[in-house]
Amino acid sequence: MNLILLESSDFVAPGRAVLFGRRHQHITEVHRAQAGEQLKVGLVNGEIGHATVRQADAERVELDVALHQAPPPALPLTMVLALPRPKMLKRTIQHATALGVKKLYLVNAYRVEKSYWQSPWLTEDKLREQCILGLEQAVDTIMPQIELRKRFKPFVEDELPAIAADSLKLVAHPVTDAPCPVDIHTPVTLAVGPEGGFIPYEVDKLQEQGFSAVHLGPRILRVETALPVLLSRLFPAR
Ligand code: SAM
Repeated sequence: MNLILLESSDFVAPGRAVLFGRRHQHITEVHRAQAGEQLKVGLVNGEIGHATVRQADAERVELDVALHQAPPPALPLTMVLALPRPKMLKRTIQHATALGVKKLYLVNAYRVEKSYWQSPWLTEDKLREQCILGLEQAVDTIMPQIELRKRFKPFVEDELPAIAADSLKLVAHPVTDAPCPVDIHTPVTLAVGPEGGFIPYEVDKLQEQGFSAVHLGPRILRVETALPVLLSRLFPAR
């Protein structure tokens, strides 16, 4: 936790927050923070700053909070991700959030197992928990928006054209000739396939909507590995 993420509901008065549970435990057991010590904090969907510990006991920690800094810029990216298996979904959401993705569509594809859509990790609360872990890791506060789309064809034909309008449209696909471009200065809509990959019909459907297939070299990467490789090529650190 490189940042303690605060919710508006944590504030008991202007500039005064009280934390319990996981964040209390982290502050007292990992930071071992004592009264007077400062911690990096941020308000969900708000600014970053610091908090001074007023008081910490076995149950609660009381903080004086001063927020004064904008969170890091979001990636100019919309991600369309075939729903991964639940275990990988959690890690992928955390990584995507930490990398600065703010708009994510989890979509069906032929090689997405139907049972994945029943996963309790797809509830709004559970997805939010993973986003919080990503934001805390990356020192960011802006919560990603995650949308679920259980039907591939209507999503790609009816919704995606507007979602991807005015962006560079890419589908990461190992079986293609074009390498993934590097250092893009325009918004990007990026589609990433399921563990078994997109089937040719799905790649064709995306190409009909103006998506270009791009590869990352001959090695087939897991989704959670492909994601940071793709994003660091498209948007290298400056
Ligand atoms: N056997 C599958 C195939 O050939 O498409 C492998 C799928 S891979 C495990 C899961 C997804 O990660 C792919 O659909 C693609 O979006 C992305 N990916 C993984 N390795 C890649 C590579 N070398 N080039 C482009 N995309 C890759």
